[in-house]
Amino acid sequence: MKIQKEIPISCVRVLDLGNFICNKIHGHNFKVQVNIALDEWTDTVADFNVIKEVVNELNHKILLNKQNQVVKDDVFLLAGDKSIDVLIYKVQEKYYAFPREDIVLLPFEPTYENLIVYLQQKLSEKLSICRQDINIKIINEQESIQIYS
Ligand SMILES: [Zn+2]
Repeated sequence: MKIQKEIPISCVRVLDLGNFICNKIHGHNFKVQVNIALDEWTDTVADFNVIKEVVNELNHKILLNKQNQVVKDDVFLLAGDKSIDVLIYKVQEKYYAFPREDIVLLPFEPTYENLIVYLQQKLSEKLSICRQDINIKIINEQESIQIYS
């Protein structure tokens, strides 16, 4: 049996990868297509809510590589009478301050390829099935890109 679930995602990223257009802060809209194929099926495997929950952790977030965090402790930015918890981030001599509540800190550069491996791993843990049985496709129609495992 096979199941397929497509979840639309919008996110912001800044990549630290040589001389590359994605080194500047920018956003993407894409779909994450999760395909699971199993010989033996149990009731719990096809829990679409778990799939949605895992993928949606990245939705409407700023995806950052933990290694580019400049200060490890909390930094508060004073804006008028408000204090905002921010993360200071550095990519190629440029510094950014991002509100912590909008960030997902990842142990890698948030490229599509790395996100696929990450989602495969997380879904495999949450659904208790082998990583090899989970195939993920990222579809960015705007840029006519499809990347899959
Ligand atoms: Zn990009």
